[in-house]
Amino acid sequence: MHWSHFHASGLWALLMLPLAVAQARDYVYSDAHLHYVDFFQESAGMDALLKAMADNRIEQVMISGIPVAKKWHEDEPKRPRYYAGDDADAYWYSATDVLVAAAVKQLSPEQRQRFHPFLSGFNPNDKNSAAHIQRMLDLDPGLWQGIGEVFTRHDDLTALTAGDTPRANNEAMTKIYHLAAENDLPVMLHSNITSKRERNPLYLAEIEEPLRNHPHTRFIWAHAGTSAEIHRHQTRLEFLLPTLTRLLDSYPNLYIDLSWSLLTPYLLDEQGKPRQEWLQLVERFPERFMLGSDVVGRFNKLGRELHSFDVFLDALPEDVARQVAHDNFLAILPARHRR
Ligand SMILES: [Zn+2]
Repeated sequence: MHWSHFHASGLWALLMLPLAVAQARDYVYSDAHLHYVDFFQESAGMDALLKAMADNRIEQVMISGIPVAKKWHEDEPKRPRYYAGDDADAYWYSATDVLVAAAVKQLSPEQRQRFHPFLSGFNPNDKNSAAHIQRMLDLDPGLWQGIGEVFTRHDDLTALTAGDTPRANNEAMTKIYHLAAENDLPVMLHSNITSKRERNPLYLAEIEEPLRNHPHTRFIWAHAGTSAEIHRHQTRLEFLLPTLTRLLDSYPNLYIDLSWSLLTPYLLDEQGKPRQEWLQLVERFPERFMLGSDVVGRFNKLGRELHSFDVFLDALPEDVARQVAHDNFLAILPARHRR
């Protein structure tokens, strides 16, 4: 081959590349589940978060703290790196919301349009918590756009958290659901559908009761009650799809956070291909699913988490895919923040 010919075909290939990329669906994302801090209340900071958003077309994010702090116990030989790192407990930590509020307040008015702070630092077993939340709302009018992530049943964390195990259907949370409805705030709940060992929806009633009793409260169910820890013990919950179908049919106030523990083993099969029955479920309820990264305090994997859903989104009709990737989260925010 003549050199100039080779050169020209190489140039042609280079020219074709951006064309091929442009034909793919370039999703713009909203992240419905992001923790600004980790279990030690530390964060890589707002500059790192803004950069991860800019690098990955993440236009909007829910931003919350972590409602518990993991203790570095006197007796532990080294500082734990995760809540499950040792036997020390975690305790309810309200200052997490101070950290989120301060991070958001340092933004320019334009940047603030892209951040949707959720208030999470309260004890879900304390019937005084609704009054605490109301005080926090009054302290910063218009700042908070949702409540959560509320930790109720949360596999290993449940046993490590100081005090009683919170239930999503207890009296303290009932007061909070009323307050959320009065203030037009969505509530993100982490409420595991079962324990690590039970092959049935052991704790389903704890989430279903509030869905039924609080039709004017919008619920985002974090990972639809699944977790990596449950899947370590039972690879796949066979009852999840029929249960979710029934709940979405029965309760129009239920929204599903499709974060990582749902991607595999549910949305994608062992070969990484979208499962037909899950595509059908999302198509049947196109306004009820949203993406969440569930990152905690570090943002270097934020883009990877959201892009990992692309293969599933690509198998959906384009309008539905864009609703899931971007619109649905924004649609459940308080009316004054909605677009
Ligand atoms: Zn989370």
